[in-house]
Amino acid sequence: MKSEIKIILFLFCVSAILLLLHSVAMNRSLIIDLDGDIPIFALDDKSVGGTSEAVTYMENGSRILECELTTSYQYPFCELNFQLASLIQGEPVQGIDFANFTRVGLWLRYTAPVDAGIRFHMRNFNPEYATLADENSMKYNSLEWFFAQGSTEPIWIPLDSLQVSTWWLSENQVSLKNSAPELTNIVTLEISTGTKVRDGFYRMEIDKIEFQGKLISKEQLYLILVSMWMMFAFLRLGYSVIKYNKSLAFFKFREQELTTINHLLDSKSRALEDQVGRDVLTGILNRHGLQAILFENDSTISRAKGLSIAFIDIDHFKQVNDKFGHTVGDEVLKEFARLIEENIRNSSEIIARWGGEEFILACPNSNLKQVELLAEKIRMLVAAHHWPQDIALTCSIGVAQMTEESIESFIKRADVALYAAKNQGRNKVVSASK
Ligand code: GH3
Ligand code: MG
Ligand code: MG
Repeated sequence: MKSEIKIILFLFCVSAILLLLHSVAMNRSLIIDLDGDIPIFALDDKSVGGTSEAVTYMENGSRILECELTTSYQYPFCELNFQLASLIQGEPVQGIDFANFTRVGLWLRYTAPVDAGIRFHMRNFNPEYATLADENSMKYNSLEWFFAQGSTEPIWIPLDSLQVSTWWLSENQVSLKNSAPELTNIVTLEISTGTKVRDGFYRMEIDKIEFQGKLISKEQLYLILVSMWMMFAFLRLGYSVIKYNKSLAFFKFREQELTTINHLLDSKSRALEDQVGRDVLTGILNRHGLQAILFENDSTISRAKGLSIAFIDIDHFKQVNDKFGHTVGDEVLKEFARLIEENIRNSSEIIARWGGEEFILACPNSNLKQVELLAEKIRMLVAAHHWPQDIALTCSIGVAQMTEESIESFIKRADVALYAAKNQGRNKVVSASK
């Protein structure tokens, strides 16, 4: 977080510095050579049928245009023509890109018969509308202004005040798309006499032509700044997403781990629980389980609400083992438990294996009569059931209702009743005496 604030502060400072630098520095200047490498011509209206006459030469480091202007032709003019690019058929036209320049300064003295205008043209070449064969097809980015004679101050022309001449648009049938001012490939600069002129002698003395601009345009600077901030935002976002995904993966992993641990604990505890409270062979409660549920929780409550048990013992079970083997004996025990389980109300009545072939059916909220009836029902079910190997199985049952007594004496009474049932010939239900 701290480093993030540092980065934001850094970006903020960079932005502020760039904006400040752009307004006071990052300047770029281009001075047009008045007497050197580039071709400079004097043009006049003779080429189009007029009689004006222009000459140009250097004098004390200044470019001079002298013009004897006559109004014999409809649009008389004299003009200085600075050739910035070579215009040779078949070769690409490499003009100067003035897009990042904001203004042009002209150090110019002008003598004319009356106060007269001056026209300034920057001619752009673009193959979409211009051809080398037709000099007139190059776009006129133009401005005409009126000039106070004798002024020595430089004239600063903002380049965005240049307009495309409407006559040029219509004469060349230029599409809308190409009708805006365009300074990206300037091939010629022209400084000429104005549109409304009289006969007479005109003289321009040019000391300097300087274009000024910025190394990068305001738009380019804004683009750089916006890109910079967007890149930061993008990287920050990406970083967040990666971090989030990583922690998500970690949490998922932890969750998985916890689930596994929970499952393990669960099965372990269930296994332990089973070991302690359940009978492995039949799956029903064992002696411990029954005691935990019935007697250890709150025996006074059990007593108050009435608790009765049926002590069930399979008759002559030893013979089953002897006759059919221990495995069949086990099967019978399992089925015996299942049969009783299926025929009791699971919600309150509980069957448990007390040991060997002895079972206790506990019935909370039941009196002796009720448990007698249930025991009788079970006895008949067992006798009627179809057992493996067609064994004719019966059971004897002793029932008792708990009174103000210890658990041991309670069970003992049921056991005595069971013994009595055995003695009475088995396959019997006998109630304990109080
Ligand atoms: P009674 O009618 O008097 O109850 O006769 P009984 O043969 O049922 O009684 P006894 O106590 O003489 O024999 C019980 C037998 O139960 C002895 C033992 O081998 C068998 N037994 C006890 N537990 C298991 C067990 O888990 N599996 C098998 N197959 N037999 C068991
Ligand atoms: Mg027994
Ligand atoms: Mg028995």
